[in-house]
Amino acid sequence: MSGNEMRYIQEAFDTNWVVPLGPNVNGFEADLKRFAASSGRSRRGDASVKEVYPQTIMPHENNPENLWRESLKGMAEKHVVALCSGTAAVHLALVALGVTAGDEVICQSFTFCASSHPVTYQGATPVFVDSEQETWNMDPVLLEEAIKDRTAKTGRKPKAIIVVYLYGMPAKIREILAVAEKYDIPLVEDAAEGLGSRYEGQVCGTFGAYGVLSFNGNKMITTSGGGALVCPDEEARNNVMFYATQAREGYPYYQHEKIGYNYRMSNVCAGIGRGQMTVLDEHIAHHRHIARLYDEAFSEIEGVTFHGNPSPEYDSNYWLNTITLAPSVKVKGQESAYKTTVKGAVGGAAGVVHSVGNAHTDCEPNANVEAMRVFLDKANIESRPLWKPMHRQPCYQDCPAYVNGVSESLFKVGMCLPSGPLVSDEDVKYIVETIKGAIE
Ligand SMILES: *Cc1c(COP(=O)(O)O)cnc(C)c1O
Repeated sequence: MSGNEMRYIQEAFDTNWVVPLGPNVNGFEADLKRFAASSGRSRRGDASVKEVYPQTIMPHENNPENLWRESLKGMAEKHVVALCSGTAAVHLALVALGVTAGDEVICQSFTFCASSHPVTYQGATPVFVDSEQETWNMDPVLLEEAIKDRTAKTGRKPKAIIVVYLYGMPAKIREILAVAEKYDIPLVEDAAEGLGSRYEGQVCGTFGAYGVLSFNGNKMITTSGGGALVCPDEEARNNVMFYATQAREGYPYYQHEKIGYNYRMSNVCAGIGRGQMTVLDEHIAHHRHIARLYDEAFSEIEGVTFHGNPSPEYDSNYWLNTITLAPSVKVKGQESAYKTTVKGAVGGAAGVVHSVGNAHTDCEPNANVEAMRVFLDKANIESRPLWKPMHRQPCYQDCPAYVNGVSESLFKVGMCLPSGPLVSDEDVKYIVETIKGAIE
């Protein structure tokens, strides 16, 4: 936390706005709106190696207010509603699109559960679509197959499509949009991991009908916990705001004609968000810098492949840097991988985790990946497997899925490496050396 966050939080207390509305919420929404409309350089066309790691907006050293505040041009105007979590943002996007019980919603399978769980909150069924190799995000060809097949089988079109920017990597968004438009199905972009990622210079989360942002503690910026929904116009914004604040009708008493939610962001959290917006560009630049160091280092290690922007129109924020480990790579301790169960669970200590008696499931990372995780853990380096695809999760075993094997095979070979603002150049060296040392 810097002085900027403290300033805005103090202001919330000083002005008695310690509630889920107020000047910080409005200010934070205005910042996000401006950010969503900012244009990066367009990079359609020729690539040089360096161009693959553009720092779209350079951090302004002398100006704590970032460059995007000045570069407000171009884009169709979006509206933003600040909410208490990214999950709430996914949920309200579905509410706004009229998803109800019995509907089907297409969702990228390779994602964190918060992309798809809200579909079930609405009593609807997620239909999972697998990824393509280049970006690891939704395969547009498979998407079209899924739409055709669901429509043929159920007599109804899926109600919405949820595409994800996994680990911050932009999806093949033009192709996905083209399919969505062809079948006239609204697109929701889950940009929870992709704040500041761009495709052809345009901010991820601003292509479809709705865009989801997250400010959870582990995301690109944090409000301690929070999210936002990017809405297509003012009417949509007002509708989302209505549902986020318990859907109240205009009477002098509580009158309810719709079911609403208590999903608005608090003014104190928004104060943190306003402070964080002043360092967003620096965070993104740092993640991209770390990505470049990893990429250079791993290009010299056989069997380890860094997941980078496939071409210059992609401009990942590199929220998490990821690698894949060839099955042929032998890792120290591989023989005893999965011999013991882990305590706790991936994703931090919060909450209650069901303990398990057996470390195996029928879909898990390869033994060398698990051995690498354990080896790094012993060297005090936290790594993680990639997210396990939703179509392989027991809670979704009865849901339709259109698969090509890509996400499942990536899950078996991939891992996430430390990537945050506290990772230094020295840390990257240490991490890379440790990985080298783990390989037999
Ligand atoms: C984190 C995340 C969310 C949910 O955001 P929260 O703010 O944690 O509720 C949604 N989708 C994806 C892909 C995420 O990684």
